[in-house]
Amino acid sequence: MATKTPYQRFIKNLKDAMEVLKLSPMEKKLLLEPQHNLKKSLSIKRDDGKNASFPAFRIQYNNARGPYKGGIRYHPEADEDEVKALAALMAVKTAVVGIPFGGAKGGIQCDPKTLSARELQELSRAYVRAFKEHLGPDIDIPAPDVNTTPAIMAWMRDEYEKLTRSYAPAMITGKPLSYDGSRGRDTATARGGFFILQELIEGEALDSKNLRVVVQGFGNAGATMANLLHGAGYTVVAVSDSHGGIYSEDGIDPVSIEKYKKKTGSVTGQYCKGSVCDTEKMKLDRVRQVSNEQLLELPCDILVPAALDNVITGKNASKIKAKIILELANGPTTPEADDILQKRKIKVIPDVLANAGGVTVSYFEWTQGRSGEQWTDDQVDRDLKRVILTAYKDVRREVHRRKIPYRQAAFILGVKRIVEAMRVRGWVSNG
Ligand code: NAD
Repeated sequence: MATKTPYQRFIKNLKDAMEVLKLSPMEKKLLLEPQHNLKKSLSIKRDDGKNASFPAFRIQYNNARGPYKGGIRYHPEADEDEVKALAALMAVKTAVVGIPFGGAKGGIQCDPKTLSARELQELSRAYVRAFKEHLGPDIDIPAPDVNTTPAIMAWMRDEYEKLTRSYAPAMITGKPLSYDGSRGRDTATARGGFFILQELIEGEALDSKNLRVVVQGFGNAGATMANLLHGAGYTVVAVSDSHGGIYSEDGIDPVSIEKYKKKTGSVTGQYCKGSVCDTEKMKLDRVRQVSNEQLLELPCDILVPAALDNVITGKNASKIKAKIILELANGPTTPEADDILQKRKIKVIPDVLANAGGVTVSYFEWTQGRSGEQWTDDQVDRDLKRVILTAYKDVRREVHRRKIPYRQAAFILGVKRIVEAMRVRGWVSNG
């Protein structure tokens, strides 16, 4: 039977790992549900004078290894189940990369595209007011996620400092550089994934010059990744955003796509205005428009889902042409798809490893916030590479030792580290 909700999909992967690790009933019980499930309704005054309210969540899954850590998503479909799954993934992720955090996630069910800058600020500050007792540099440290930006992090820090009458740069990460942000945080998620991919293709004696890549999602993670890959000689054949995608066998230039996306709001902006496209120009440039569904099935060597979850499913997994899937998005592949991809020998580098660069540099930002230091670009990049490649090699060792897929290996490693911390703290007995 198909696993339906994001949290059910997480539980499937968790149970597989718990089985291998032979955990006790108490250990299993503690891992199957978040420690805190916080829900509020946020009210703001809209620009037209009317009141509006939005459901908001902060879900704290586990803090055995350190303070809760995880982003805040603004999206019309951000609901309790999705945020719960994302919180749980964060705990496994921080354990896989070995940074001293637990896992949490937040969300506001809203469509930020319909909010003015003033309304967005009001809503972001309301979030902090609603959850302030549960946040703090040693308690729970939020960060950006889909549709949340450094500017939003700055408003949230400012609100928190006002409410608590404190100086608290380490209460949130992903802040603007001028407001105690870290160098390299904006590119960290993609950069971490890029380091892993480079190590992987070197290990398989492949040459980036012969590899075609498709990237779904052209935001913080996806656009940075497309640029890094293009710069390293890969051929980026397709990219997309929520409006759809663009494909060219010859390869596309992400820099030019980004320029038009900024101008028109869409990756197809160079050729199309809404659904009306300049077909002559497209023919000349040998590009064509593709839907997000078609994009996933395009001929390529590497597929990088960098948008939302649940896009590679039991329905399309058998049609995927890529040999490697690098999950920059959280939860893009369902367990049904995983089974099919494994049988087809398609390598999936899972979210809890592939996109862990973001939380790793968030950790660096947190330590800088606490010490007052400002690291250089080189320092951030060097330490990110060290942390992410150590995690990759740890996971790869499990893959080879147990002859299992990367996701299962990463979950075994992450869950084992969380349980070790729970045992040391005395939450569960040692044997
Ligand atoms: P973002 O808001 O910057 O960008 C999201 C992109 O996805 C946009 O280009 C948007 O147009 C596109 N998109 C939205 N709906 C889509 C759809 N249905 N089909 C195709 N594209 C669609 O967000 P982001 O920070 O880049 O996050 C993207 C993914 O990466 C999320 O799953 C997020 O949880 C994950 N992630 C991000 C970070 C980070 O540091 N930014 C860290 C870890 C994981």
